[in-house]
Amino acid sequence: MITGTTKLLGVIGHPVEHSLSPLMHNAALAKLGLDYIYLPFPIQPQNLAKALDGFAAIGVVGFNATIPHKQAIIPLLSKIEPIAQAVGAVNTVFRQDDSWIGTNTDVEGFIAPLRSQHKNWSQVNAVVLGNGGAARAVVAGCTQLGCASIHVVGRNLQKLSEFRDSWQDSPLKVNLKVHQWDSLPEISKEANLLINTTPIGMYPNIENSPLDKSLFTHLSKDVICYDLIYTPSPTKFLQYAQQAEKTAIDGLEMLVQQGAAALKIWLQQQAVPIDVMRQTLQQQLYRR
Ligand code: NAP
Repeated sequence: MITGTTKLLGVIGHPVEHSLSPLMHNAALAKLGLDYIYLPFPIQPQNLAKALDGFAAIGVVGFNATIPHKQAIIPLLSKIEPIAQAVGAVNTVFRQDDSWIGTNTDVEGFIAPLRSQHKNWSQVNAVVLGNGGAARAVVAGCTQLGCASIHVVGRNLQKLSEFRDSWQDSPLKVNLKVHQWDSLPEISKEANLLINTTPIGMYPNIENSPLDKSLFTHLSKDVICYDLIYTPSPTKFLQYAQQAEKTAIDGLEMLVQQGAAALKIWLQQQAVPIDVMRQTLQQQLYRR
């Protein structure tokens, strides 16, 4: 129920209609019985500064930022937390001392399902497929885990070089090598953690996999295959992994956990109903 005291949270994006965040967060807020609402705000790029002023004026507690605002918002904020600086993108903004502070919860979301794997991360070679926005959170996450090496595989040499160089002034000590796509068959053999951050295999192109089926038999016995995609679940990449008896993780938990981490910041409390958030998304995405 919206009352005279209802507090406001939300997500800014353009487009934002597809966002699952309102569903997930409103389910959590309802479960907690809190007088908050989480709304989608379609903000055009040229209106971003105005929107921030407006949000401050009407007392918005905090919000998520999605495409195309994740980088553009950085110079408009009073402070950026080190993790968001390292990733070069902000997905969560909160209010502190009448200022907007930006952080990034995608890294925490990415790491969350890996924590339960009880690996000795200092022995793990991570292979990251793709070098876009999500790959940045993944590289930061692998660095935080303490992976022995990080290999980023991409299809465009220029973009790969820029990706590698972009970490040079990072507050995180990132140690990565970049490789072109044709070296994937060799590189993947050494992987203990193989992460797809490309959209290959995402609905509606569900028959595609970034890695040929034939290569799965050459992967290391203990490899974790992690696909950031959450529709479909499992993707072809994860189906092949499961058939080869490898551990498979899909992108739903990252989505849930980055949302839970943001909600903890806005509400300033550790207890958030992660199960409700997960179930809400599963029902929406897979009608489970
Ligand atoms: P992005 O910034 O556009 O990056 C996509 C990357 O994939 C780029 O490096 C791109 O290569 C590469 N790529 C695209 N098509 C390819 C192909 N056919 N062959 C080889 N490489 C290809 O997108 P993003 O924001 O990183 O998102 C990537 C995926 O992660 C999406 O499926 C998204 O849904 C998912 N994601 C999931 C979560 C979650 O919470 N689970 C969060 C964020 C993203 P070029 O650089 O050469 O173009």
